[in-house]
Amino acid sequence: MNLFGLPLSDLVDLVRSHRLPDYRARQVAQWLYRHHADTVADMTNLPTELRETWADEHTVDSPQPQSVEESSDGTRRYTWVAPGEDIYESAVIPEEDRLTLCVSSQAGCRIGCKFCLTARKGLRWNLSSAEILGQYRNLPEREEVTHIVYMGMGEPLDNTDEVLKSLSVLNGEWGYAVSPRRITVSTVGILPDLEHLLDRSDVNVAVSLHAARREERLPLVPAENRHPIATTLELLRHRANLRLPPFPGTGRRRLSFEVVMLDGVTDRPDQAEALRDLIRGIPSRVNLIPWNSFPGTTFRPSSRQAIERYQAVLKRAGVTATIRESRGQDIGAACGLLAGRHHAESRAAAPDAGTPGVAAGRLSGQAE
Ligand code: SF4
Repeated sequence: MNLFGLPLSDLVDLVRSHRLPDYRARQVAQWLYRHHADTVADMTNLPTELRETWADEHTVDSPQPQSVEESSDGTRRYTWVAPGEDIYESAVIPEEDRLTLCVSSQAGCRIGCKFCLTARKGLRWNLSSAEILGQYRNLPEREEVTHIVYMGMGEPLDNTDEVLKSLSVLNGEWGYAVSPRRITVSTVGILPDLEHLLDRSDVNVAVSLHAARREERLPLVPAENRHPIATTLELLRHRANLRLPPFPGTGRRRLSFEVVMLDGVTDRPDQAEALRDLIRGIPSRVNLIPWNSFPGTTFRPSSRQAIERYQAVLKRAGVTATIRESRGQDIGAACGLLAGRHHAESRAAAPDAGTPGVAAGRLSGQAE
């Protein structure tokens, strides 16, 4: 069994199965996530006999980046390889006062959003907790990362168990001890998994809304069929009324709604009004995301003027609405750009294994 990626609760089960006291699980967690042990043999405060037995039974495996490309604006995109040679990617986005790591939760995605190139690849592989956390553990600039967003490839709540495990390790004081206030999970609004996420973690949540009216959202986000945004909003409004997480009085967790700005498709003032009405009464903010085009699509990015017009409608209603700046466009790491190349191609572009090279892929978000 691979020990890396296991949350404390699983490690407790493991040590109990060996008739060991629970504190041994905490020691193992600290070796894995504080001291970055590479093998069981490194865990020197475990009894020698146990280390020898475990060395035969367990590994400590986490993926290493295969290649990296840096944008002219300082954004870096890392490529990782899943079994079957499918690639997944992370982006590291430097801003004035923060460094945001954008991780993938799946290789590919099956949600099928029409403006997203990753959707065309379909779902190739659900990343394990180890594969999600490896994007943090083995990042050369890990120590400088201030924020982590689950906005890379994939729908996190289509892989909820592994995402929750990874969040537990990131947040745990026995783990990486990253504050949940500095972590955001993005979702199109998969129920009941969104409720599980809200109940079982304290992270920020970003709902990819894009269009408030069902007839306008459905052609963009096919998941609207099984997971109508109206139902998601009903859940959020109910929780807001009861002051259940993530709403005021239950910590400083933040809820945001994301709208990708497509010319004439999502950016009209009447659509901003529909959004304003839909989210009324739900403490939240709205992020407007400039879209980046790719070959073979009929969508066009909204003009800055249209985005600002949309923003103005929300602001007049007292809604906090932010326009994201597009980053990493020249290396395909900007919002909406996709994993266009295959593993073989990205490896060919890398000078040698483990050395920074050139990758390609799609990452869909930036920091809150
Ligand atoms: S935008 Fe996100 S949820 Fe939609 S298809 Fe792309 S990766 Fe999946």
